[in-house]
Amino acid sequence: MGFKGIITNAYLLKKNVGIYDDVHEYLKFNGVIMTDSGAYQILKYGKIDVSNEEIVKYQCKIKTDIGVILDIPTPYTVTYDEAFSSALETYNRAQKALEIITTNQCQEILWVLPIQGGVYVDVVKEFAQKSVELFYNGFSIFALGSPTTLLEQYLFDKVIDMIFAARSTIPFSAPLHLFGAGHPLLIPFAVALGVDLFDSASYILYAKDDRYISRKGTYRLSELEYFPCSCPICSKHSPKELLEMPKDERIKHLSKHNLYVIREEVNEVKQAIKEGRFWEYLEIKAYLHPATKSAFKALLKYLEYLYKHTSYSKPGVKAVLLISHYSVYNPRVQIPRRKILSKIHMCNKSNIVFIPYVYKDKILLNNFIGSVLKQMNEELDFTKVYVYYPIIGVVPQELLFVFPYSQFEFGVEITDEIIEDLAYLIFESILLLKKDSFIAIAWCVEAPWQQKLISKLIRSLSASKVQRSVKIITLQCNLGSYNGKSVPNIISSAFTNCNFITK
Ligand SMILES: [Zn+2]
Repeated sequence: MGFKGIITNAYLLKKNVGIYDDVHEYLKFNGVIMTDSGAYQILKYGKIDVSNEEIVKYQCKIKTDIGVILDIPTPYTVTYDEAFSSALETYNRAQKALEIITTNQCQEILWVLPIQGGVYVDVVKEFAQKSVELFYNGFSIFALGSPTTLLEQYLFDKVIDMIFAARSTIPFSAPLHLFGAGHPLLIPFAVALGVDLFDSASYILYAKDDRYISRKGTYRLSELEYFPCSCPICSKHSPKELLEMPKDERIKHLSKHNLYVIREEVNEVKQAIKEGRFWEYLEIKAYLHPATKSAFKALLKYLEYLYKHTSYSKPGVKAVLLISHYSVYNPRVQIPRRKILSKIHMCNKSNIVFIPYVYKDKILLNNFIGSVLKQMNEELDFTKVYVYYPIIGVVPQELLFVFPYSQFEFGVEITDEIIEDLAYLIFESILLLKKDSFIAIAWCVEAPWQQKLISKLIRSLSASKVQRSVKIITLQCNLGSYNGKSVPNIISSAFTNCNFITK
């Protein structure tokens, strides 16, 4: 089906099958095999009849590729003390396992160091911190334990908080596995925070319960009239046919479909990252389900972390798509916005003019800017032009035709929230400019969003006690009919009522 690795359970292999040779031969699979230790069975049944030492040694014997010590999962319903105990016991077991995993027989294996603590993020953080030293002594992959029960309750925001607690504490270069997280709704948000590996039995568990996974959510098979999927199963059968099949056969078909969907989601995420449109993908995903909305909102708390680890201009990436008011947080928008703002105080020209971005076409826009300056009797040599646009922000004229400003598609209704954001950004820029600069803001009378923007801006400037004078230039821009030759007319030009300095 295209999966290059599988996960199986060492505890069940030992108990039910009793193999003592290479697990690859037993499973007839030459790819990567990860073996879980039986911790999931502890989560489900309370306890199991095997020790940490036994199961670690057993995984060495069967030559697994990725092995896991016997951790104690933290269910989300436990108290703080219980969560702390399971995290501590997991940590102690990892420490004890070091003696075994660093022996000749075991050191070929990539060992997983689980971090527990459940929804108590300070416990997760504390043990993630403690585990760093252990990690470098013999482990290769960190894992975050037991979001399974939270995922079943659709408490995605809590899972995001847990991931952040672990991810932001362990070294950035260390791989992080998320146990039991195979739902297509969660995967992109976990990846956004730096989860590298997932495993999940959801495909089969859901199938046994006649649940059909889709990338938008989960359906009961009986609810479906049509299959919203074109995998080999859904192309050949209808929901009705599946329902009429014997149970065993139905489970086989449904679990296959569920796996196809999970694979599709993972591939879509990879492709979005490759194209530089992962943020856009998260925005779209956020609107699919209340749970993804809560995951997305939780992710917004950690934007600084995302920005720190995001490269905003990779070669070969596609145009930025501005699709909702959340697009303002897109790293490809926000990182350059901040860079421009951080350098604005260095502007050494005495005349500063803010002009709206009214044309996408380079020649038209430059002509428009030239005409506005001419009307204002401003000479380009002494004037610095900043072009402003919703979400995109404030851009020096000379950067207008480099990425991302040369490549963006705007498909958002310009709401009051978006206008507020831009008004604040221009206000902030004005405050950062040199005190003796002459500042003018031009706007087109035909554009309602610009009218709202200017009103907000005047209000902010009037209310502030800063020593700045700003001239508002109201233009009749003839938008639409403007061909680069006709000239926008100045209707009025007035100073805002902060400290007046006449030029
Ligand atoms: Zn399908």
